Order: sequence, then structure tokens, then C-alpha cells
Amino acid sequence: MNFSAHNLKATPNRIFCIGKNYDKHIKELGGTQTPEEPVVFMKPVCNIVAPGEILHWPSYGSELHHEVEVVLLIGKEGRNINIADALSYISAITLGLDLTLRDVQKKLKKAGLPWELAKSFEQSAPLGIFKDYSPNKIDLENLAFSCSVNSNLRQNGNTREMIFPISNLIQTLSHWWTLKPGDIIFTGTPAGVGSLHPGDKIEVESPAIGLFSWSLASV
Ligand code: MG
Repeated sequence: MNFSAHNLKATPNRIFCIGKNYDKHIKELGGTQTPEEPVVFMKPVCNIVAPGEILHWPSYGSELHHEVEVVLLIGKEGRNINIADALSYISAITLGLDLTLRDVQKKLKKAGLPWELAKSFEQSAPLGIFKDYSPNKIDLENLAFSCSVNSNLRQNGNTREMIFPISNLIQTLSHWWTLKPGDIIFTGTPAGVGSLHPGDKIEVESPAIGLFSWSLASV
């Protein structure tokens, strides 16, 4: 695969995704409990879609939801990383969509089954272009970002609302896995998720990062 559009400095290694990291989003899906540790699942890197590429409706499922998220690129190897050092492992940031088949996810959750069918379908990881990150230029603990569909604002979030801030996510993930250059982390979605329809244009934006868009094929 060719990931040159994304300004990745390394071959993408894994995509970690954090679930349930914003309180209002947990509530809008009917949840009541704040997780005690980060909820993690993965998507394969082949599901990455560059900005401007056409998205096609998945081959199953009926309720396709947008989830805009701040996305991190890991730039150096680390294990058991301290919170104080965590941000130094990030080489670049962007925005992405953790596309989710909500109807499929509801069934899987109810049955206590894994989420792959709801989260890891083809083209489930639209990803913006990475912007080099340095802690003194961008405040990752106070970063505004949004998602609009057909120019209507749907999600308006800020990383300061995260249950587990970015430093904590890196610390915890690095206890469970050795983080490697090319690892990508989707950091969770704020409230406002909702259904997409054929022909929709989805835009994600952050003043500090940029604007990226994707269109869903009309059939
Ligand atoms: Mg998500």
C-alpha cells in the first residue's frame, strides 16, 4: 500500500483505537460507567483512507457513524513510558475518522462479542495528513477539533474533555505493548456521533492541524 499522502515518517505499524474516552459520548450511546482504564481495540493499517479518496458503503451493516478523533503518530520506540516523558514519543498529529457500524456494534456488545465487524471493515480508518508535532507549539491537552457532514456541524470536541489524557494513553499503551515508530493512535471521539448516508461529504477540522474531507459514494 502507498501511504505517502499521509506524511508518515515510518511505515505504519499498528492502529490502536481508544474507545469511551469522552464522558458525553459514553452517555449518548446509553453508557453509564466511566472506564477505569483505557478501552483499546485495533484496526488494520490497510483500512487507512487518504483525504479526498471516495468512501464506499461497507458490504454489510445499515447504520454507519462518523467519529472524529485526534490521531497521534509514534516516532520512537518506548516501553513503560512515564507520563512526564509521554509527549516526547509523538512525532506528528492529525485527525481521523473511526468509522463505526453502530447497528453491528450494538448487536456485538449485547452478545459480549469482539468489535471487529463493527470497527474494522474496509475503509474504516480515513486519516488526515500528519503535521509534525512539538509540545511547545501545540497544546495536546487543549486542542479543539470538529466534524461536519454536508456543512452541518455534528461534533465539536476538545482534548481537555478526555477521560484519559493523551499522556496517560501513551503511558498505559506502553505498559501493554512496546510502542514502535509508525504506531498510530486514535484517541477517542467526543459527543455528537451520528449516521452517514450515501453522497454525504464529511469534513474534519482543527485550527491547529488543518481540514480534511471525504465523500461517501452516492450508491
Ligand atoms: Mg472511536
